[in-house]
Amino acid sequence: MAKKPRIVIIGAGMAGLTAANKLYTHSNNSFDLSVVEGGSRIGGRINTSEFSSEKIEMGATWIHGIGGSPIYKIAEETGSLVSEEPWECMDSTVDKARTFAEGGFEIEPPNDDGGDLGQIYEIATRFYSSVNGLNGSSVGSFLRSGFEAYWASVSKGGNGVEGCGTWSRRSLEEAIFTMFSNTQRTYTSADDLYTLDYAAESEYQMFPGEEITIAKGYLSVIHHLASVLPQGVVELNRRVVKIEWESKEEDPVKLHFSDGSVVFADHVIVTVSLGVLKAGIESDGGLFSPPLPEFKSDAIKRLGYGVVNKLFVEVSQRRFPSLQLVFEKEDSEYRFVKIPWWMRRTATMAPIHSNSKVLLSWFAGKEALELEKLPDEEIIDGVLTTVSCLTGKEEVVKITKVLTSKWGGDPLFRGSYSYVAVGSSGDDLDAMAEPLPQINKKSGQVNGHGQAKVRELQVMFAGEATHRTHYSTTHGAYYSGLREANRLLKHYKCDF
Ligand SMILES: Cc1cc2nc3c(=O)[nH]c(=O)nc-3n(C[C@H](O)[C@H](O)[C@H](O)COP(=O)(O)OP(=O)(O)OC[C@H]3O[C@@H](n4cnc5c(N)ncnc54)[C@H](O)[C@@H]3O)c2cc1C
Repeated sequence: MAKKPRIVIIGAGMAGLTAANKLYTHSNNSFDLSVVEGGSRIGGRINTSEFSSEKIEMGATWIHGIGGSPIYKIAEETGSLVSEEPWECMDSTVDKARTFAEGGFEIEPPNDDGGDLGQIYEIATRFYSSVNGLNGSSVGSFLRSGFEAYWASVSKGGNGVEGCGTWSRRSLEEAIFTMFSNTQRTYTSADDLYTLDYAAESEYQMFPGEEITIAKGYLSVIHHLASVLPQGVVELNRRVVKIEWESKEEDPVKLHFSDGSVVFADHVIVTVSLGVLKAGIESDGGLFSPPLPEFKSDAIKRLGYGVVNKLFVEVSQRRFPSLQLVFEKEDSEYRFVKIPWWMRRTATMAPIHSNSKVLLSWFAGKEALELEKLPDEEIIDGVLTTVSCLTGKEEVVKITKVLTSKWGGDPLFRGSYSYVAVGSSGDDLDAMAEPLPQINKKSGQVNGHGQAKVRELQVMFAGEATHRTHYSTTHGAYYSGLREANRLLKHYKCDF
C-alpha cells in the first residue's frame, strides 16, 4: 500500500485548526495528519479565560461584523452566541461613557450629531478626504492633516472653554482627537500611526453588520473546529525549533523539536505569528534551513506587527461608569506628573458588561509592553491615580485585583497582530501566503532548479498575516487555513 502523504501543521490556533479540520473532513483519511503546538493549550491568540468569576477574553474578543463572517456562522450554528451567564461586552457600556479631561473636568460625552467634540475623528477624516484627496502616506499624517484642516475651519469661534480650568479649546479638542487616535492604535496594533500605511489600510475589508462578542467564549469556535480530529492528531508542548526543507530524501521536510526529536513530512503548513517568523529569520541559525528566499524574508521584515494587551481590574463596586480619558500632552505644564506614562495613552476604562465589577482597558505599543513587566501593586496604584486625577475625586473606587494579557513577551506569539507598515504593501501579505519552493509562473518550474524534479508545496504558510484583506483577524486566520488546506486537496485531487 502506498505511503500516505504526511502533513504537519505547525500551530493549533485558528489557522492551523481550520486547515486540519478541512483536510481531515475532506480527504477520506488519505493523509497522515498532525498538528504540532508549542504551547500547552489550543487556540493561540484566542484564549477565553476567567477573572473575578467572569468569563473574559485574553486575546480575540470581537466578531468584526456579522454579515458574511465565517466565525459568526460557526458560533451561531454551535449555539455559542447565547449563554445563561453574562459575558464580556454583551452590552455596550461605552455608549453611556462619561468623558473626563485631566484635572477633574467632565466634558460633554460624544454623540452622533456630527458637530460634537467626539466626532472630531470622523470630521477630520471627512474634511481631509474632500480637500486633499486620499493620498496621505501614513494613517498618522493623514489624520493630523485632517485635524489641522478641521481646526482651521472651526477655530474662528474663540479659544476659551468655560468651566475647564487651564484647558484651551484647541488643547481640549486636540486631546480628544488624540484619545480617538489611541483607540486606532489598539485597533491596528501600530504603536505609532505614522508607521501605518494609509493605502493598504484602505484595502482592509470589514464585514457589514453588528460587531459582537461570543457568549460562550471565543474558544468555543476553536473547540468546534478541533472536535472532528481524532485523539492524538493535535500534539501539545511540541515546539518546532528548525524547519529543514528542500531535502533530497524521500520526505523533503524535516522538523526539529525543542526536545531534540525530529519528524519528517511531505508538507508543512506554518501558521506561527508574524512576530515568531520575524524572530525566526533574525535568530542565529534561523528557523528555516536553507533560509527563506528573499521575497519571503523581505515581506516578513517589512510588514508591521505590534503589541496590544488587555488590562482587567476588579473594583469594589458594581455599576462603575465607563470612562473616556482625555489627557494633557505628555510635556504639558498642566499635566499631573503622578499619572504614570503608560496610562497616558489609554482611551477608555469600562465595565465588561453593565453589571460587572471588572473594568477593561486596552493598551498598545510601548505601554502594552510596559504593562507586562509591572507588578500588580504598581498597576493598581497607576490606575487609581489616573482615575482620581481625571475625575477630580480623591477615592473613587478600590481595586481588589488585576490581570493583564502578555502577548508581547510570550515567545510563541511575540506580539498581537499584524499591520501594513509604511514601506510594505498588500503585495507583501500575498508574498507571505506563497508556498515554497516557489513555482515560476511562466515556466511552471520550481525556481532555481531548472528541470530537476523538486517536490512542490514543501513549506506552506497560513495565519492572519497571510491574508491580504482580512489580516489581523480571526476570520483572516480562518480563511488562510482553508486556503492552504484547499491547495493540498487540489494537489492530491481530493474533492473539496
Ligand atoms: C489582545 C488581542 C485582541 C484581539 N482581538 C481580536 C478581535 O477582537 N477580533 C479578531 O478578529 N481578532 C482579534 N485578535 C487577533 C486574532 O486573535 C488573531 O488574528 C488570530 O487568532 C490569529 O490566529 P493564527 O492561527 O493566525 O495565529 P495564532 O493564534 O498565533 O496561532 C499560531 C499557533 O502557533 C503556535 N506556535 C508558535 N510558535 C510555534 C513553534 N515554534 N512551534 C509550534 N507551535 C508554535 C502558537 O502557540 C499558536 O498557538 C486579537 C488578538 C489579540 C492578541
